[in-house]
Amino acid sequence: MPPSFVDTHIHLEEVPDWPAAVDEAVQAGVTGLIAMGTDLSTSRGAIAMAEQHPAVWAAVGHHPMNQAPPDLPALRELTRHPRVVAIGEVGLDHSTDEHVGPHEAQEAWFRTLIALALDTRMPVCVHIRDSAADVLRVLSEQPGLTGVIHYWSLSADFARRFLDLGFHISFAGTVTRSSKEQVREVARLVPADRLLLETDAPWGTPRGRSGPMRPAWMIDTAQAVAEIRGLTLDQLAEIEKANVSSLFPRLSR
Ligand SMILES: [Zn+2]
Repeated sequence: MPPSFVDTHIHLEEVPDWPAAVDEAVQAGVTGLIAMGTDLSTSRGAIAMAEQHPAVWAAVGHHPMNQAPPDLPALRELTRHPRVVAIGEVGLDHSTDEHVGPHEAQEAWFRTLIALALDTRMPVCVHIRDSAADVLRVLSEQPGLTGVIHYWSLSADFARRFLDLGFHISFAGTVTRSSKEQVREVARLVPADRLLLETDAPWGTPRGRSGPMRPAWMIDTAQAVAEIRGLTLDQLAEIEKANVSSLFPRLSR
């Protein structure tokens, strides 16, 4: 059997012709995908896609890019759906992007969604942009919380601190680029039981591809991580499968 991987973070509603893209991914060995929710509407959309395609699972969340607060009762209701496996996308974005919400509001929303994750015993899928120290501070106050820092871009020092909190680290297409030495270093040092893979499609196109990211191209990312760690693709697939099962128990029921 060819190696099989899970794309743990994708914005599937933004991927052109998503059902065909998912079929193509499954053919390429990406046999599971977790579609993120960034607000109530895309959270519902993620569930609808998961109902439509057996390879798709859903996360429900509230991205810091929102201007309005989360509708917590509605999101909580969505977590009861059997194809929902995580709370995400959540986090803090302290970039100068004009679309991000106010800092204090973002932190309040983040804490609200963390409380929902703890309540429902689900992991969180965390977005960090120019906010690593603040995310670390918030997460360090949450005993029992599990989750993944998605689209790893930070230093080895930050990696150790998130790993110390028990978090997983997920690598995207950036790890395929030799210029991203910091990301590649973390891909080398992360313990085998904390490593995950993702596309963040339609973003995160790997080296050698062009156009919007497609989930099938996660194999390029897997290949790069396998090379960095001196593993075969099969060995890396076994590692990722075990980690997906432990972090997203609902996905492997
Ligand atoms: Zn995302």
